[in-house]
This record gives sequence, C-alpha cells and structure tokens, in this order.
Amino acid sequence: MSRFLIVLLVLCFMSCNTKEVKIKEMPTKSEKIVIAHRGASGYLPEHTLPAKAMAYGMNVDFIEQDIVLSKDNVPIVIHDIHLETVTDVAIKFPDRSRADKKFYVIDFTFEELKQLNVSERFDPATNEAIFPNRFPLFKSNFKIHSLQDEIELIQGLNKSTGRNIGIYPEVKEPEFHQKEGKDISKIVLNILMEYGYKTKNDHCILQCFNAKELKRIRNEFKSELFLVQLIEFEEEELRLEEFAKYADGIGPWIQQIIKGKGVNGKWLISDLVINAHKNNLKVHAYTFRADQLGGFETFDELLNVALYEANIDGVFTDFPDKVVGFINKN
Ligand code: CA
Repeated sequence: MSRFLIVLLVLCFMSCNTKEVKIKEMPTKSEKIVIAHRGASGYLPEHTLPAKAMAYGMNVDFIEQDIVLSKDNVPIVIHDIHLETVTDVAIKFPDRSRADKKFYVIDFTFEELKQLNVSERFDPATNEAIFPNRFPLFKSNFKIHSLQDEIELIQGLNKSTGRNIGIYPEVKEPEFHQKEGKDISKIVLNILMEYGYKTKNDHCILQCFNAKELKRIRNEFKSELFLVQLIEFEEEELRLEEFAKYADGIGPWIQQIIKGKGVNGKWLISDLVINAHKNNLKVHAYTFRADQLGGFETFDELLNVALYEANIDGVFTDFPDKVVGFINKN
C-alpha cells in the first residue's frame, strides 16, 4: 500500500510539475499593455458599467476606474470631483451646488447619486458635447456605480469567460478629500484588499497624481500593489529617481514624450521613456484618442510612434479595440 501511495504521489507531483511548466510556457501576450481609459469611453459614456463591459469584450489588459468618495464614504467611479459635466444633477438637485456653482460628489449620498442619469460628457454652460461624434447626450439609461459594483462586474466576467482582465484604479484628489475629513486612500485600499488585490501579481495597478499620497500608500499603508505615479508637468520629469523609490511606473501624457515634428519631418521624441526605463519604471501614457490625433495623420501612426519608436509600455485609450487590433497586427 505504501508503494502504491508513493507511486500516486510521484504521479501527482509529476502532473503538478508539468502543469506549472505549461503555465510558464504559455505564449506571453504582448509586453505592451492596453488600458481602457474610463472604459470604452470613445463609444459609450465614460465610467458607466456598459462602457466597462464593452471594454472587457475588446480584450484589454486593464480597465480604469477614477475614484471619488460620496458623502457616506462610498467610493464612486467618476472622473471629476463634481457632477455637472456628466449627469443631470443640475435638474434633479438644483439647489445643491456650492458657491462656485459646482455640484460635488462628496455632498451627495450614494442613494442620491444613483438617482442621477449619466450622459456622454458635455459643457454645462452650453449643453454641447465635448466630443460631438461620440455617443449622443442623455440617451438610453446610464447610472452612477460604486468601485465594488465595478470590481464585481470585472471579476464576474473573469469567472464567466475564464480570462483575467485587471483593474487600474486612480485615487482622485486626496488633498481635497482630506479637507473634507475623508481618507480616500484608506477606504480604497481596504476595498481592494477585500476583493483580493494585494500584490503586484493580482492584476491591479493603483495610480495617483499626488506624489505625497502615492508615497504614503507604499510606506504608511505598506501596499504591495503595482503603483503608477501620474505626472503632467516638465519639472516632474526630473524626479524619476525619487519616484522609483516607491513606484513601479509613471503615467505621463503623450505630449511629454512626443514633442512635435522636427525640420526633417520626423517626430521628435523626448528622453523621458529612456530615463524612466533606466530607473526601472514602466511608462503608461495617456490619453490615446482616435478622434483627437494631435497632428498625426492616422491613429495607427500615433500608436506606432508612441509604442515602437518612443517605446512606451502601456497606453491609456478611449478606443481600446483599435489599440488591441494595432498591437496584435504588429
Ligand atoms: Ca484617470
């Protein structure tokens, strides 16, 4: 019997071992990652669950969540700390704006926020769409949701499809939240932990523009997640060594990398990506839009220069299908 057991154990060990080898030998996906910026926001209103489900169906690597707290401390997936550019808040709650005429997410409970209709982004002064060729304003039925709602959508789809698409949450305006008496990072990190996002292997990248706060997330909260320091100013490009002490990557905007055309007609590329890579930092640049080409003839030309000439590692895009398609054919 003991011999039989040993044979069984050896067989089991061999099969487990083979399995492990198989996983390692699986063809690796492109090293370049595609992040659905606010979902498939080129096609459906940003940060709505349908926009996230659509992005999921486009086989991206990560889906982005911007996070702002409600009055009752629910992390809401929305880009701005105020509501009037993507909802009908001014009609539903006309007397709830602050002195600056803005309606703040943090002044509403989650129950109240769920009463709002969400629209494609518009200018509340003129009621005109920011991107006129995108989804029409205030059509169909879109609602505000929480970070938990969205994680459950993505994890649910991971279960039903057998894929493993990640989340890419951004802690928005931590200092504003602090002034309002709220610790947004603490709340977000606790929820991420609850849903199993703890280490760099858990398909979650956490991003923030505020360097002090991202440092705090690493050092005070001891987060082991993959952290990306978002940047927007030239002076931040000189702080890569400092960022590398707590972050795993940087998120600059495209114009910090592609600096226009030279006299020979070639695109000028800054040293930012090379310097970031020297500091062992990945570069995920924002925002790639097929309807805002910034001087490029085609979207493919922009993607080619950014991904293969400038050698960035990831793309935040409103048009995930186009970027996935481009990377797959190259
Ligand atoms: Ca964002």
